[in-house]
Amino acid sequence: MSDTIERIKCLIIGSGPAGYTAAIYASRADLKPVMYTGMQMGGQLTTTTEVDNFPGYPNGTDGTAMMEDLKNQAERFGTEVRFGMATAVDFSDEIGGIHKVTIDGNKQIEAETVIITTGATAKYLGLESEERLKGGGVSACATCDGFFYRKQDVIVVGAGDTAAEEATYLANICNKVTMLVRKDYFRASKAMEKRVNRTENIEVLYNTELDEVLGDNVVEGVRVVNNQTQEKHEIPVTGVFIAIGHTPNTDIFKGQLEMNDAGYLITHGKSTKTNKPGVFAAGDVQDHEYRQAVTAAGTGCMAALDAERYLGSLE
Ligand SMILES: Cc1cc2nc3c(=O)[nH]c(=O)nc-3n(C[C@H](O)[C@H](O)[C@H](O)COP(=O)(O)OP(=O)(O)OC[C@H]3O[C@@H](n4cnc5c(N)ncnc54)[C@H](O)[C@@H]3O)c2cc1C
Repeated sequence: MSDTIERIKCLIIGSGPAGYTAAIYASRADLKPVMYTGMQMGGQLTTTTEVDNFPGYPNGTDGTAMMEDLKNQAERFGTEVRFGMATAVDFSDEIGGIHKVTIDGNKQIEAETVIITTGATAKYLGLESEERLKGGGVSACATCDGFFYRKQDVIVVGAGDTAAEEATYLANICNKVTMLVRKDYFRASKAMEKRVNRTENIEVLYNTELDEVLGDNVVEGVRVVNNQTQEKHEIPVTGVFIAIGHTPNTDIFKGQLEMNDAGYLITHGKSTKTNKPGVFAAGDVQDHEYRQAVTAAGTGCMAALDAERYLGSLE
């Protein structure tokens, strides 16, 4: 299967804010990291134009430009950034053991430490109009994009804790929030449901689904359908927040690393350590709670420090 084997000190899988920050710290600590970027070089932020909340950019920045800056910074200290996907892993259980990672099905990397920053992917409904208007009013992140809809009317799709949290967050910023709940009840905890019901400017439409997002280049409204009566009606809104969950990119780690029921990697205590010595996880792949570029970058820094200390402890 493998036609080449390469032995390195530190392998970073993924090129989002967590991966590049880990790379900056690991290369400055002389771990000579090699990064495989995956198919989405730069990660999720390359799918958005405006990043307004990352510290250090007083006028905001473009997501792709910001990730290019992070890449250049990592390369300045010697990180080798390569395009490629990790397709299989065989992690050692031994302290000081060598971890084997297959790249693109044919190249094998043997690494003393591995930092996993493969992120998570937001789920969408799959409507053509939703796809077309992503970035033009359709978003999967209220914390990231809510501010752009200040004092405006928005829709939140979803009925779980995340949807309820996003709706209450948006209610503080927006004029009115309409929640579309597919069933006739919430999946969110009772406490979150109460918070939604107590919030005056949230209206909940039960048995209601998004039929189409309206607008050519920007969102001008939505058409919703009552799944009991099949009646449709339009609601004028400028923002549509899809809050139906995320899928962590952890398929290749199944059976190798501890994960929770939703597939997020489990890290131990206040560290980025996984259950395998020398394997660390940072960013959205281990964080279903905060999911922000700055928190991903923070844990990326932690992972590089954890990797450096782990190698130091072996000497
Ligand atoms: C539309 C949108 C707008 C957003 N706006 C903001 C914002 O304004 N502010 C903010 O703070 N946050 C924002 N976020 C959230 C932010 O993008 C994420 O929290 C952050 O990118 C997570 O970083 P990460 O490094 O953990 O992973 P990601 O950015 O998800 O990157 C994961 C990386 O892993 C790679 N990868 C996956 N599988 C493999 C594999 N098998 N082998 C190799 N590589 C692999 C991918 O190619 C990618 O490079 C936004 C998210 C979205 C979707």
